[in-house]
Amino acid sequence: MGTGMNIGTRVVRTARVLPFGDGVPVVPPLVQSVAFDHASFAAQDRVFAGERDGFVYGRYGTPTTGALEAALAELEGTASATCFTSGMAAINAFLSSCEGPIVAQEDCYGATRAVLERRGSVTFVDPTDHGAVGAALDASGARVLYAEIISNPLLRVVDVAALGAIAHGRSARLAIDATLATPALLAPASLGADVVIHSLTKYINGHGDVMGGSVCGSHEVGAAMRERTILDGAYLPPHDAWLVIRGMRTLGVRMARQCDSALAVATHLAGHPKVARVHYPGLASHAEHDLACRQFDGRFGGVVSFALKADDVGAAGRFLDALELAASATTLGDLFTAVMHPATASHRRLAPEERARLGISDGFIRISVGIEEPGDIVADLDRALSAV
Ligand code: PLP
Repeated sequence: MGTGMNIGTRVVRTARVLPFGDGVPVVPPLVQSVAFDHASFAAQDRVFAGERDGFVYGRYGTPTTGALEAALAELEGTASATCFTSGMAAINAFLSSCEGPIVAQEDCYGATRAVLERRGSVTFVDPTDHGAVGAALDASGARVLYAEIISNPLLRVVDVAALGAIAHGRSARLAIDATLATPALLAPASLGADVVIHSLTKYINGHGDVMGGSVCGSHEVGAAMRERTILDGAYLPPHDAWLVIRGMRTLGVRMARQCDSALAVATHLAGHPKVARVHYPGLASHAEHDLACRQFDGRFGGVVSFALKADDVGAAGRFLDALELAASATTLGDLFTAVMHPATASHRRLAPEERARLGISDGFIRISVGIEEPGDIVADLDRALSAV
């Protein structure tokens, strides 16, 4: 598929890589086979040795998961992509392949932060404070800088090119979790990220019916991640990969719609009397708005967060209970609007003082804006706000 084409066009016919007799199926076949029969012992040996393309066993690679991996590598512009059973499996695989200290974004996704804390040898920083990032890399000697391109749930935006330069100047690699942006907004490797991680569960699949994760990077990263799928076993099964391929074909239109609607929702909430503040990179009030305009080419993602003026769990609960259209659900990036309360869900494990320091207060709400009519979404939010 021509890499000069728009990403929304490229995803429509992506993953057509499996030949089938004389024709290439427009939809990749779902190959469920766990094992693969080889013409000779020598042929199988060459596949095991990596001297020949092919398949041997379900944890080593499957044709359907391989089709998804080839598509992701093409979209991200990386030499390799490896798929795992969830975003967290991908993050764990990558982090466990890193030796030595890590410098990481302080307001990353709650489970990622918990994994980093459990691993130890981590310095948490504000990734928009480039002086602090450089100082933390210098002080720790870390060879990995880890950040989220749009953070969950505070929606901070990191400057990928600047962080890449800071990391590379110290012989460190930049790893970017690009789940909230997807390649529809930016391929971080094009700006210098060495490793790009996705929860495929979110926008890339987009239909709330499968979990998955991926790590994209160099051939060396690919080899290290293949070692993880073989030895740890959390490789994305073919049927799940097939569903992700089907979902990602509409990534372009879904993201366009969700970004436009999210901007409308954020603008509306910013003027609402019961709302204390709105976090959305598309609003001029957002600290990294100018960077987001430059980096994402006029789109800002489908997630909007806001804080209620009534800053307590009771008010947040009344708001969630009063929603009729939006699901009160702990996910994001699906077709449907989903609203959640980070303090009691994704960031529940974080110490209350640290949550408060980061700005994830008790009245803080995250909305993943779906593809429904934007007017209906806004009306639902207004109805729920009047119950607060
Ligand atoms: N990264 C980010 C930014 C996320 O928001 C999430 C989940 O919400 C994950 C990773 C983990 O993905 P999964 O739920 O597929 O394990």
